[in-house]
Amino acid sequence: MSSIDREADRQALRRAVGGEGEVRFDEPMERHTTLRIGGPVEAWVAPASIAAVQRVRSLCALHNWPCRAVGAGSNLLVRDGGVRGVLIASERLRDLAFAGRTVRAGAGVATGKLLSEATRRGLSGVEFLGGVPGSVGGGLVMNAGTTLGEFKDVTLRVRSVDPRGEVIERDGAACGFVYRGSAIPPDEIVVEGELALRERPREAIESDVRNLRDRRRAREPHGVPNAGSIFKNPPGDHAGRLIEQCGLKGRRVGGAEVSPAHANWIVNAGGARAADVLALVDLVRAEVRSRFGLQLELEVKVVGHDQESHGHAASQ
Ligand SMILES: Cc1cc2nc3c(=O)[nH]c(=O)nc-3n(C[C@H](O)[C@H](O)[C@H](O)COP(=O)(O)OP(=O)(O)OC[C@H]3O[C@@H](n4cnc5c(N)ncnc54)[C@H](O)[C@@H]3O)c2cc1C
Repeated sequence: MSSIDREADRQALRRAVGGEGEVRFDEPMERHTTLRIGGPVEAWVAPASIAAVQRVRSLCALHNWPCRAVGAGSNLLVRDGGVRGVLIASERLRDLAFAGRTVRAGAGVATGKLLSEATRRGLSGVEFLGGVPGSVGGGLVMNAGTTLGEFKDVTLRVRSVDPRGEVIERDGAACGFVYRGSAIPPDEIVVEGELALRERPREAIESDVRNLRDRRRAREPHGVPNAGSIFKNPPGDHAGRLIEQCGLKGRRVGGAEVSPAHANWIVNAGGARAADVLALVDLVRAEVRSRFGLQLELEVKVVGHDQESHGHAASQ
């Protein structure tokens, strides 16, 4: 695996991204995650077109640079040692086009923007996004959702760019959506999605979204950096209930804390490192396993390598 430290490599990356995009080297990922945690990535690039994503991927393949996607960083824990290679940020892929009841959204469109634009047009189907942060790309890959639905319910097509720089198109069924996940290969960069909406009175949409937001506001932590639910709910149960029953609300490791407001949220209570969060994750898992015989599965994605490690990249 080669690293991106020669000026010629850096220039090639800048050229691949093109004038409309942005490239930053040794970029601290704490700036790009809602947990405000994470070491530096060798190259953070934000292409502004699908063609630019293709060029960056081809260049990465040529040099054997690891390359993966980042959206709004709202479901992401980046380890303290940072990330080798290239992270392609979707934030400039912001096209949003409505045609009748279909909407085509770039991977970098904020879920809140998609919801507000659909609502303005009296188009229903994405009410479930009320209070869910993140980007369309991250939402599709994660099959983000709430009690009101999930991306699976509305997805017609997803376009992504594979490691060779080719555009791949899948219909909704081929995306293999499951609870908080999909079968979209982790080495593909989703660039846009097409969603099928339906007409509904705007007031009814707004009322559902308001109720969802109010319910969430009442039970979720505020004012502290977090990544939403840290664990997936086990079938037929709630991770938060199990963790709370273990008496772990408020438990801390370094700056990481099991939120006193919601036991399935680990928050950055101040100066937390990824190592603190991961140690707290291990502690919670061990307690839940010993009390309930259940292995909690992480919902949050962990990328990068530990500060101490030399050479091995650990990601999920
Ligand atoms: C306050 C809060 C509340 C939340 N509530 C909910 C909720 O109710 N329901 C829910 O489902 N989630 C919830 N989440 C989690 C999060 O919002 C979702 O998982 C969201 O879909 C993640 O999108 P993102 O753009 O931030 O992805 P990121 O965090 O940037 O990335 C998440 C994963 O998706 C991959 N990814 C991102 N973009 C792309 C792309 N373009 N192509 C390929 N892979 C990509 C990343 O590599 C990573 O593996 C919450 C988070 C927070 C902070």
